[in-house]
Amino acid sequence: MGTLLESLRKLQKIEQDIAHVRSRIRVRNNAVNVQKRKIEQLEQDHASLQTQGIDRRKLADSLELDLKERDGKVVSFRAGLNAARSNKEYAAILTQINTLKADSAKIEDRTLSVIQEVETLKKQADELAEKIAGENKRLADITEQSDKELDKLNAMLEELLQARAEASESIPASSLAVFERISDNYEGEAMAMVEIHGRKPPHTYVCGGCFMSLNSEHANALSLRDEIRTCDNCGRILYIDPHAQ
Ligand SMILES: [Zn+2]
Repeated sequence: MGTLLESLRKLQKIEQDIAHVRSRIRVRNNAVNVQKRKIEQLEQDHASLQTQGIDRRKLADSLELDLKERDGKVVSFRAGLNAARSNKEYAAILTQINTLKADSAKIEDRTLSVIQEVETLKKQADELAEKIAGENKRLADITEQSDKELDKLNAMLEELLQARAEASESIPASSLAVFERISDNYEGEAMAMVEIHGRKPPHTYVCGGCFMSLNSEHANALSLRDEIRTCDNCGRILYIDPHAQ
C-alpha cells in the first residue's frame, strides 16, 4: 500500500474512533433525557390525581352542604308538626319529613363513598410522590455519572479531532475532499478492503464494504499504483490489505 492510501487508512481509523466516541456521547445524553421524560410523565400523572382529588373533595363538600340544608328543613317541618291543626295536615307534614329523611340517607351514602374516593386518590398521589422522589434521586445519580463520562468523552473527542487535523496535513486537498465526502455518507467508513477469494489465480475480488464483486482491474491497478479507486457499487475507497499481497 502506498503513502496516499496508507494515510487515508490512518485517517479512516481516526474517523471511526470519532464516530464511536460521538455515538457514546449520544447514548449518555439519551440516558439522562429518558429519565427526565419518565419523571415528567409521573409528574403529569401526579397532577392529574391531585386534580381528581380536588374535584371529588368539592363534590363531597357540596353534598355535605345539601345534607345540612335538608337537616334544617327537617327541623322546621318538625316545628310544623306541633302546630298542625288537623290529623290530615299532620300526616302530610310527616310524609314530607320521611321523604326528606329517605333522600338524605341516600345522599349520605353517596357522600361517604365520595369521601372514600378522595382518600384513595390522596393515597395514590402520596405513593406516586414517593416514587417521583426516588426517580429524581436516580436522575441525579445518572446525571452525575453522565457528566463525568461526558467530560472524558469530550476530551477524547478533542484529541481525536486534533489527530484528524494532523493526519489530514499530509494528504493532498483533492484526495481529502473525496475521502471526506464518502466518509460523510458512511459515518466514517470511507474505505473498504478488497477481499481476495480463491487460493490461486485467477482470483475473484469482493468489496469489503458492500460485498459486491469487483472488477479485477481495480485489484491490478491498486497493486501497481497508489491512487484513489472507488467501488463501482458503494463508492467506498478501495485498498488491498498489505498482508494479503
Ligand atoms: Zn463496495
